[in-house]
Amino acid sequence: MKRAGGSPTVALNAKGIRMKEEGIDILSFAAGEPDFDTPEAVKAAAVEAITNNDTHYTSAAGTLPLRRRIVRKLREENGICVPEDGVIVTPGAKAALFQAMMSFLEEGDACMVLTPAYPSYRSGILTAGADYVPVPLRFEDGFVVTREMLEQKVSGRSKMLIVCNPCNPTGHVLSAREVRDIADFVLEHDMLLISDEIYEKLVYDGREHLSFAAIPEIRDRVITLNGLSKSAAMTGWRIGYSASSPELAGVMLKLQQNAVNCTASFTQRAAIAAFDCAAETERMRQSYLERRDLICDGLDAIPGIDCPRAEGAFYAFFRVDCQDMSSAELADWILEKTGMLLVPGTAFGEGGEGCLRMSFAADRASLVEAIRRMRALFSAPPA
Ligand code: PMP
Repeated sequence: MKRAGGSPTVALNAKGIRMKEEGIDILSFAAGEPDFDTPEAVKAAAVEAITNNDTHYTSAAGTLPLRRRIVRKLREENGICVPEDGVIVTPGAKAALFQAMMSFLEEGDACMVLTPAYPSYRSGILTAGADYVPVPLRFEDGFVVTREMLEQKVSGRSKMLIVCNPCNPTGHVLSAREVRDIADFVLEHDMLLISDEIYEKLVYDGREHLSFAAIPEIRDRVITLNGLSKSAAMTGWRIGYSASSPELAGVMLKLQQNAVNCTASFTQRAAIAAFDCAAETERMRQSYLERRDLICDGLDAIPGIDCPRAEGAFYAFFRVDCQDMSSAELADWILEKTGMLLVPGTAFGEGGEGCLRMSFAADRASLVEAIRRMRALFSAPPA
């Protein structure tokens, strides 16, 4: 942990909560979580499980009914074929992520990450003792990744590549061409691929989310990560999963057995209900889409701000023309002047300088107020 440090986004979110508790009037757009309640059917399933005393350890990989439901979900919705023993139910996708990195990375290995990226990728790689190798993507190119960019960063030590699709923080959704290029790349260099698909349900404008593990040639080298935090508004329940070949899952399962034993039993029961909440998830997506248009177009109209419409997830990732300030200084300045908490782009690594991330999983009135404050700030000279 000396190498890795804490999570900058979790720390910023905590700062927002603390300021509110101290009575300071701030608008926090730092958190990465839905503003919806968990669907009623999911809550009812958990209450029923608790009432029926389903409150004991389960098998480490997760209950069989839940793993079977995940196997079906992956087959029907993602075109991924994994057997039950390729699925591990974890307390959040974050736990699955760390299991994958701690299981397959060690000192001397290098792990490539498309950046800007979720900060826990870097922390996990460094915690495992491996080298973090960013592949910086460019704002101007819409954060598109090319085969050449990957080839420039590969070495004989490259063991793993981590990809987040749709991407937190950039909102980029990989095209079929990018997916094919990445698949060819990991195959040719004999690498493992971690595919973080936690935002898969939140894609806009007719785009399609594609899963790497659906590609037969690479499916045995892909660890798919997903969970219900975003699709069913279940961040506090701590429920996620990994899906991979049984061989890879067998290794990660040893870590789960030793470090956490299993995911909470009644949360697992609730998760089964959550997989049947497609209509609620779609309603949430529609609502995020409306708010995306509001915030991205509103910010983009402010002189000095370049805010493309997010293709997926629920973040506006925008560039501010403020040459004399780093994005960290900019975020501090905006907090001081407007009371708005945003995440500096550099929290997401290389390629994030000059950018800020703002979650639009916030109520409409706060978003309208945010645009008003930003317009007022950027119309006045810095002071
Ligand atoms: N991956 C990404 C890209 C995320 O944004 C998050 C949550 N912020 C996670 C994984 C972790 O999700 P969970 O709540 O399932 O641990």
